Amino acid sequence: MASITIKDMSVSYNKGKSYVLDKLNLEIKDGEFCVFLGPSGCGKSTAMHCIAGLLEPIDGQIHFGEDMMTEIVNGKKKTFVPPQERNIAMVFQEYALYPNMTVRKNMSFALETKKAPKEEIAKRVDYMAKMLSIDHLLDRRPAELSGGQRQRVALGRALVRDPQVFLLDEPLGNLDAKLRDQVRYELKKIQTQLGITTIYVTHDQTEAMTMADHIVLLKDGHIMQQGTPNDLYDHPSNEFVAGFLGTPQINMFDCQVVEEKGGLMLDAGSFCLPAPAELVECLRPYVGKNVHLGIRPSDMEMRPDGAIKAHVDSIEPLGDAYLIYVRIGEKVVVFKYAGETAPEETELCLAPNVSKLHLFDPATEERINA
Ligand code: ADP
Ligand code: MG
Repeated sequence: MASITIKDMSVSYNKGKSYVLDKLNLEIKDGEFCVFLGPSGCGKSTAMHCIAGLLEPIDGQIHFGEDMMTEIVNGKKKTFVPPQERNIAMVFQEYALYPNMTVRKNMSFALETKKAPKEEIAKRVDYMAKMLSIDHLLDRRPAELSGGQRQRVALGRALVRDPQVFLLDEPLGNLDAKLRDQVRYELKKIQTQLGITTIYVTHDQTEAMTMADHIVLLKDGHIMQQGTPNDLYDHPSNEFVAGFLGTPQINMFDCQVVEEKGGLMLDAGSFCLPAPAELVECLRPYVGKNVHLGIRPSDMEMRPDGAIKAHVDSIEPLGDAYLIYVRIGEKVVVFKYAGETAPEETELCLAPNVSKLHLFDPATEERINA
């Protein structure tokens, strides 16, 4: 197993005219489950291909533990370990199993070509098949398996090789929603048991939130924030991160900061909130100017003395709660209500949880509050 360190890695597909990744720096601890998250085209697969050795960056370093895998200085290659010598295993969305081989043969093939001892191969295949609950399918061929079973074989085929790094690029994309949840849960469990340093690429924030020890959120080839799922969700460092994580999306309001009777108010036009004491200091430089206020749907509640007057637009039952879409002035806003029955009123008063407000500078979109 190994930690992975990437230093100032830049990638260009047109010899430096434009960069797909721009000076990427990150560190993945030994045994960690790291998720590269971001919208399509942000550079997730590109970063993974560099780690695998399938692609050469134009600049930068990649280390596995103490070992240098890639070292490129100003476009000049100093060190480059080829993919087959990196001891990595990869699984993609389009996992190509060998159609004319049984599951057992699919899983053992790579070890056989490496001339591993027969009993050792059988032991490893049986162990991994049991772990993935495909041990009853070992004599079948891929055509005789469901999509979810095939995906498990692809995972097993990668894992029997006992790689030091496990790379997965949107591996659950082809599965239906229910199966995806199940394989997601099992994959995380197996990764924890085996302790393999893993990088998992996805555009799906739910997969990232549920599986990751460490999330690297990318946009246009830049890291917008990295940290634990809770770091990113509770303390998004900019508006992009705040909007990318969480469903439904965070509600954003444009507010003017006004000084009134010695205190500060956040005036959104359609409502006016007194600034909580802990935010006064960071809001002081914005008096007379605007800030963006973010409130997550789960951080607003109905209260008779709530400062936000809202008109109910529509209600979506979730089973254990309701999503209530309301109109506040011209804006449609959503909040989560955990009551047993949906509210009957059409006019509501809402109060935000003042310890969970997110403030951003409108010009830079960077977070203002601690
Ligand atoms: P992601 O995996 O996050 O969806 P990619 O890493 O595949 O994104 O792609 C990042 C950017 O690089 C995209 O704009 C994509 O069009 C571009 N790109 C990817 N592969 C190539 C390539 N082989 N040649 C030129 N451009 C590419
Ligand atoms: Mg991709």
